[in-house]
Amino acid sequence: MPDKFARRMSTVHRSFIREILKVTADPEIISFAGGLPNPELFPVDAMDKASRQVFADIGASALQYSTTEGDAGLRAIIAKRYADRGLTVDPDSILVTTGSQQILDICAKVFLDRGDKVVIERPGYLGAIQAFSIFEPEFVTVSLEDDGPNLEELEAAFKDGAKCFYAVPNFQNPSGVSYSLEKRKAVAELTDRYGVLFVEDDPYGELRFLGEHLPSVYAFCKTPGILCGSFSKIAAPGFRIGWVVAGKETYDKLVIAKQAADLHTSTVSQAIMRRYLETNDIEAHVALIKERYGRQRECMVEMIGKYFPAEVTITRPEGGMFLWATLPGYMSSMDLFDAAIKEKVAFVPGRPFYVDGTGENTLRLNFSNADEARIEEGVSRLGRAIKAFMK
Ligand code: PMP
Repeated sequence: MPDKFARRMSTVHRSFIREILKVTADPEIISFAGGLPNPELFPVDAMDKASRQVFADIGASALQYSTTEGDAGLRAIIAKRYADRGLTVDPDSILVTTGSQQILDICAKVFLDRGDKVVIERPGYLGAIQAFSIFEPEFVTVSLEDDGPNLEELEAAFKDGAKCFYAVPNFQNPSGVSYSLEKRKAVAELTDRYGVLFVEDDPYGELRFLGEHLPSVYAFCKTPGILCGSFSKIAAPGFRIGWVVAGKETYDKLVIAKQAADLHTSTVSQAIMRRYLETNDIEAHVALIKERYGRQRECMVEMIGKYFPAEVTITRPEGGMFLWATLPGYMSSMDLFDAAIKEKVAFVPGRPFYVDGTGENTLRLNFSNADEARIEEGVSRLGRAIKAFMK
């Protein structure tokens, strides 16, 4: 009997994180596992008002089919916000997508044939690994250092015929690492020199609570790459609104892939988001998020210093929602996970973020979704679980 399912599904699995989230639904568990923004900061009242205005003013058209490219007013606002941060982007080069996750799927459809070499960071974003895997590429990983990718490894991968490089240069999920200015320029130079497409995923770039804003790698590339953005972390993920900036030729192909996938991003979501942005100060809202996440990150780093054994090392993110811990080499974060659940605390073991099966002694901690009291309690529980595993 032939296999009922397409071959491409044989190596792709349900997201490990989504499975973990089921375990951590118990309210007694303090979860640092999810990648959830803090719901206390969702602009519920403002969105309620914006949606009532949309239905009162343009009700029927907000409920109609619309263009694949996306709401023109919304794209103009996205372009204006880039301009405010020093990047010139033509609104016609912006495609509104169903979350930025959809960009990964449509990019894979547009660029990847079976066996094509895709370079990703090690550790890498799980959602990209999942989206790309369906198209059966060959993953090539480059190690992520404190200031970005290892450039020798990156150049070696490019020389070896890589087709594209997918990366999250700001406050990466899962590691929290950000690229230095030097490495941003170096990555752009290498992608130009070797003709490798750079897919820059930037859902966290605006959530910088320490240090200076740095230009995106996209800004330094001479051949236009792909820049992805999202309203998920700066407004609310439930609308499922992201966007991609791309050069004309790529843009047209992405539009075709999106049409085939879902015709267009929800008209009503776009209309409400646009109205929200037109009638509220999103920059003030982002400042509020940064202030809160900055405090929560500070607290997590401090509590790790207090409760974890000194042998555990961590990244110190300057923004975003995650930090990354490395346990002594003999420890398995998978085994630790079960012990941690008994202590009623959860995290994401690092191994799924490595396509080469390494990373056994690493783990991801989310600091955006718990207040400081829960962070202290959760870190102390996790510290207890780790100490029980120490040799
Ligand atoms: N890219 C990265 C690096 C992410 O962390 C996420 C959210 N987990 C996404 C893309 C997808 O976000 P969304 O589809 O909500 O825009």
